[in-house]
Amino acid sequence: MDFALNPELAALEKRVREFVADRIIPMESDPRRTAHGPDEGLRADLVGLAREAGLLNPQVSPEFGGMGLSHLGKAVVLEASGYSMLGPIAMNCAAPDEGNMHLLEVVASDAQKARWLRPMTEGRTRSCFCMTEPHPGAGSDPALLKTTAVKRGDRFVVTGRKWLITGADGAAFAIIMARTLVDGEDLGATMFLCDLPAKGFRISESIDSMDSSFAGGHAVVELEGLEIPETDVLGEIGQGFRYAQVRLVPARLTHCMRWLGAAQRAHDIATRYAKEREAFGQKLIGHEGVGFMLADNEIDLHLTRLGVRHCAWLLDQGARGSAESSMIKVHASEACFRVADRAVQILGGMGVTRKTEVERIFRDIRAFRIYDGPSEVHRWSIARRLGKPGA
Ligand SMILES: Cc1cc2nc3c(=O)[nH]c(=O)nc-3n(C[C@H](O)[C@H](O)[C@H](O)COP(=O)(O)OP(=O)(O)OC[C@H]3O[C@@H](n4cnc5c(N)ncnc54)[C@H](O)[C@@H]3O)c2cc1C
Repeated sequence: MDFALNPELAALEKRVREFVADRIIPMESDPRRTAHGPDEGLRADLVGLAREAGLLNPQVSPEFGGMGLSHLGKAVVLEASGYSMLGPIAMNCAAPDEGNMHLLEVVASDAQKARWLRPMTEGRTRSCFCMTEPHPGAGSDPALLKTTAVKRGDRFVVTGRKWLITGADGAAFAIIMARTLVDGEDLGATMFLCDLPAKGFRISESIDSMDSSFAGGHAVVELEGLEIPETDVLGEIGQGFRYAQVRLVPARLTHCMRWLGAAQRAHDIATRYAKEREAFGQKLIGHEGVGFMLADNEIDLHLTRLGVRHCAWLLDQGARGSAESSMIKVHASEACFRVADRAVQILGGMGVTRKTEVERIFRDIRAFRIYDGPSEVHRWSIARRLGKPGA
């Protein structure tokens, strides 16, 4: 097993690290960083910096102006981008756009790619992915999907309620999951593409939440007789859940990559503080209680990195990687949260203030244990697999 990075990838990682340190971290104090994520002006400026540095779209194919990195390449570069929570936004590889770009590259027709994917890869537009619904609709259990798309002539009429939709406010288009009814028959879930703003797609609330690093924040969306032409079906009718898997496995892994970068940052800030600050006659790092917390951080970060890179390597070999991506998603979300939590503790009172980025990382990273499958749902599916005969 060769764990060495090839020289091109190592050089790219270095470039991204320097870019984030020199150009992006100084932008973290920009007042356009709002409670609902960086505003459009800040996002455009950040994307401009990455464009200038030739670092846009590490995850996109060269045909669409990207770097065409392998999953392993992405593991290295997206971790480096995540060292600042603004890094992935600058490099156009933040959620939900990154997963949506991947989905469109795999599933969309050429005409749909030209219309929706191209402008997004140029950093000109953002998108959103509308799946989750409030009770009694789809959440952890996608089979509870309540939003309907009823065929009327050459269009579908979509009705339902979505919530927690990241980036809906300001998105140029949405990918909407709905149960499809044609001539009274339920054909299962379908994904639809929809330009925004659109009549029948109404944002009723921008939700206040613990996290604040996703552009556009999270919205409640009312779908009230939204009309979508049948040409704007993404892929085939009834294949929505299958395409959701196409999106979810790599998308949950890229979340791990970015959050690993953020957790590393929190750890580095805490380590620096522990090496400078003194209490009871010595540097904090000399106290076993602090040293052990830093050591546990190192262990959590190292094992997360190994698990992410292993799963990325599996995907590069053509494996589905659903079990491994579940395992590493649970591990990464919990380990990175522990790292951020210890970093707050080591910084003492400063840890809960906005004098360092640690406070924001701690708040933002918490939700990762919930989206893209809560930890319990992944554990449940891992256990279910184990329970199958012959497993
Ligand atoms: C910051 C953030 C951004 C998001 N962005 C998007 C987005 O852009 N688009 C989108 O469609 N959705 C998005 N979501 C929604 C997210 O995907 C859902 O929150 C997630 O799927 C869980 O669904 P739920 O919130 O309805 O929780 P519920 O389904 O109500 O589950 C609540 C809890 O029940 C437990 N649970 C559920 N099933 C099991 C089980 N089988 N075994 C044991 N315990 C279980 C878990 O602890 C779970 O956390 C986002 C969520 C957050 C927090």
